[in-house]
Amino acid sequence: MLKKADINKFIAAVMNNGYKVFGPVKQEDGVSLSELKTTDDISFDYFNFILPPKRHFFPWSELLYKYKDKTIHEAPLPEDKTILLGIRPCDARSFSFLDNVFIDDKAVDPYYQNRRDNTIVISLACNQPLPSCFCTSVGGTPAGKEGTDILAYDTGDSLFFEECSERGSSFLKLYSKFFSTPDQADVQAVKDFIAKAEKQVLSVNIKNAAEKLKEKFYDSVWDKLSFRCLSCGVCTFFCPTCYCFGLYDERDRRIRVHDACMYKGFTLEASGHNPRPTQSERMRQRIMHKFLYTVENFGKIFCVGCGRCVTACPVNMDIRENIVEVIG
Ligand code: SF4
Ligand code: SF4
Repeated sequence: MLKKADINKFIAAVMNNGYKVFGPVKQEDGVSLSELKTTDDISFDYFNFILPPKRHFFPWSELLYKYKDKTIHEAPLPEDKTILLGIRPCDARSFSFLDNVFIDDKAVDPYYQNRRDNTIVISLACNQPLPSCFCTSVGGTPAGKEGTDILAYDTGDSLFFEECSERGSSFLKLYSKFFSTPDQADVQAVKDFIAKAEKQVLSVNIKNAAEKLKEKFYDSVWDKLSFRCLSCGVCTFFCPTCYCFGLYDERDRRIRVHDACMYKGFTLEASGHNPRPTQSERMRQRIMHKFLYTVENFGKIFCVGCGRCVTACPVNMDIRENIVEVIG
């Protein structure tokens, strides 16, 4: 147990040990995951971060290398020791999904891997899921441990910390002087907390979605679904599990930039041929990729039920309704 009154001391000690600490900081438009400059910046009054935390491992854009004097100079690997504090369990879970993509058996992305290796994830269980949340329908829970090193529960005046990985356990041992051992009442409070939060999460029936989607590739439902879509790409940029990117040469450098399957230029070939020329095909790609292709490739649905695409879409497209409509 860590008393909230002592959290500043704990974080100050972590910062003094050379860690950059990112945590929930109140901004004009909500609470965002930002670097803490002082320990007073932290706020626990939030549902979730507006933007997904994936950008800490997979930035919006990043330099890969420069050319100079006919030589390629690779960008140095990121070495900052980092703490991500207050990550919600759905977002922490998305990290383990991104690991499947960027730390694959056949190819490892060294930039992503270095950031992952140098980062301790401390997540914060949800005590008040939003109406847009549906993590329990896609294999998560408001107190899920996948993708995190330490899971904290807000029990009012204190935080209950649970070790979820060896790295998390070793890290907490270094700061044991800030923590006390929970008593039976604390353990019961956490159990009650989990049961209450789970009951609040909306349930969506997407059972056997992957199997059913296999029959829907040529269905007219995609035309209907895509009719309203503006191709703005917001749903993909806000999604913690979307990982598509483009590589661009800019004068003397090559950069990697997030891309979105909802854009007309996505997968446009140099010949001018576009395998997905209409929004209908692009909408199909987004749903199929999340609920069928990743199941075939990685054995999991690439949606953690965070609901960001539901709340961010300017024309109120709701992926929960969309998938149910497609699979019937
Ligand atoms: S956010 Fe909505 S309008 Fe924009 S691309 Fe996604 S589904 Fe279409
Ligand atoms: S598809 Fe929507 S609800 Fe699912 S993880 Fe992405 S943003 Fe969250």
